[in-house]
Amino acid sequence: LKADASKKSSGSDLRSPICCILGHVDTGKTKLLDCIRRTNVQEGEAGGITQQIGATYFPTENIRERTRELKADATLKVPGLLVIDTPGHESFTNLRSRGSSLCDIAVLVVDIMHGLEPQTIESLNLLKGRNTEFIVALNKVDRLYGWKSCPNAPIIKAMKQQTNDVKNEFNMRLTQIITEFKEQGLNTALYYKNKEMGETFNIVPTSAISGEGIPDLLLLLVQWAQKTMEDKLTYVDEVQCTVLEVKVIEGLGTTIDVVLVNGLLHEGDQIVVCGMQGPIMTTIRALLTPHPMKELRVKGTYVHHKELKAAQGVKISAQGLEHAIAGTALYVVGPNDDAEHIKAAVMQDMNRVMSRIDKSGEGVYVQASTLGSLEALTEFLKSPAVNIPFSDFNIGPVHKKDVVKASVMLDKKKEYATILAFDVKIMPDARELANESGVRIFEADIIYHLFDQFKAYIDNLREEKKKESAEEAVFPCVLKIMPNCVFNKKDPIILGVDVAEGILKVGTPICIPSRDYIDIGRIASMEVNHKQVDTAKKGEKVAIKIVSNSSEEQQKMYGRHFEIDDELVSHITRRSIDILKADYRDDLSTEEWRLVVKLKQIFKIL
Ligand code: GDP
Repeated sequence: LKADASKKSSGSDLRSPICCILGHVDTGKTKLLDCIRRTNVQEGEAGGITQQIGATYFPTENIRERTRELKADATLKVPGLLVIDTPGHESFTNLRSRGSSLCDIAVLVVDIMHGLEPQTIESLNLLKGRNTEFIVALNKVDRLYGWKSCPNAPIIKAMKQQTNDVKNEFNMRLTQIITEFKEQGLNTALYYKNKEMGETFNIVPTSAISGEGIPDLLLLLVQWAQKTMEDKLTYVDEVQCTVLEVKVIEGLGTTIDVVLVNGLLHEGDQIVVCGMQGPIMTTIRALLTPHPMKELRVKGTYVHHKELKAAQGVKISAQGLEHAIAGTALYVVGPNDDAEHIKAAVMQDMNRVMSRIDKSGEGVYVQASTLGSLEALTEFLKSPAVNIPFSDFNIGPVHKKDVVKASVMLDKKKEYATILAFDVKIMPDARELANESGVRIFEADIIYHLFDQFKAYIDNLREEKKKESAEEAVFPCVLKIMPNCVFNKKDPIILGVDVAEGILKVGTPICIPSRDYIDIGRIASMEVNHKQVDTAKKGEKVAIKIVSNSSEEQQKMYGRHFEIDDELVSHITRRSIDILKADYRDDLSTEEWRLVVKLKQIFKIL
């Protein structure tokens, strides 16, 4: 399985870098891809751009042709560029093997009119996490007020045509966006002004509508890839291949769409892929690529191959792929390979997610469309700042059986009877069951929106629990009666007090330990500076009205049952402490918790 150094050929045998497009929704990811494909649509792909499975291949000749104005032809060494067709985080997270990314270089698209948006930041975190090189396409420059269109021109040339007003707006927005990147801990600069390439990430202004800056983007992608990763891009025979999609195709059954990053695949090869129920070992029945003629492609006819070489997007038809999982590695079993060893290797990614399951067995249920996305989601949940435990997971749409599994938590820990569904469909019957049974489903296509929703839900639950237990929660306090502040001795008692320690709240039962623990009633209301308040803190002077707990109880009286020197304290009990601990832990300071301990001793609570 190991890469054999001797199999590495000379530097000239580079494979095509694999490129993903990421960014927030509506920034123009799809349009950008269309735009770099476009020049050749009329000529029926004469420029050599080929539609592959899940990817578009741009041969170097094509790139050279389109970047001629930038006068950089001599520097292109890779055979071409393989751009993944489905933009977004899902493709990116799926392109990985053994924890490292198979995406060589990414384009992070940012809308110049909007700057950094939630999914930009999420994409950025994914890229940082996988250490992936990327270029920022600052898209939609044509939307700058008064932009003069210069179709498909290099950006410097296009900029020269613009008025000062346009240039000023551009610079203002660019500076703002560079600042936003800095806030994310990242240095960025316009690529033609970037003196520290590598340290500082490149920004290429583009328009996916009129094509300005597209030559720059293409050239920079190729140059940057071959400059920074010649080793990684050197073709090796060892098969490196990842499953991007599992698809049912009429006449073929379940097929897998893969990106072959390195090595060769042959018809008849024995392969192993990761399945929900364990490793799937099968034989390649057909190696397929789309028909080169556009008209035939629509009908879904494929070209069969005996052998295919990296890098490219391929459809594989084989038996038993029904339970294959997207976002996992594909392995070929060679004549000298130990199949068991490979089967274990193929399950590694799945095992990594499994190992993140909370050992306590308590946690939310997580679901994502592919193993790649699931890994990204669980990585996020595990991070110290987030720290949400999960107890189980699944891949694909949320079905009834997932709700049933999540509902196990209803008896254990209600707030965990929750499904965090990342970018997956919820089947109607699953939703119905969830509503009936009390399982909450949160859906989002941005990972940290799931976190936000879940957190809001938890906070809300806490507030509700607090409301329920408010009657029984007793906050700790010690009060001292102030001289000349006995306004009413009984029915009701009205006193001016000093909050010597702790927090005083309306409703708090008041007790006098020095007088044989007599209870004198509850705080009915209180005032600070003639204003009604619910809460008073240590150091505040408060007028309190105390009413007896029940009408039958004999009303206690100042001067008879207690005197000015007697300390008044809140009457805590075992139960009130438990409620504080369960629902109000964060509402009390360390000092106030210490007071609870002190009162506990006074009341001899074990
Ligand atoms: P995606 O969600 O990131 O794939 O965004 P799309 O490619 O679907 O683009 C979203 C919208 O922005 C569409 O209406 C596009 O026509 C528009 N759009 C994309 N790129 C540009 C651009 O460079 N300039 C202008 N003016 N509009 C653009």
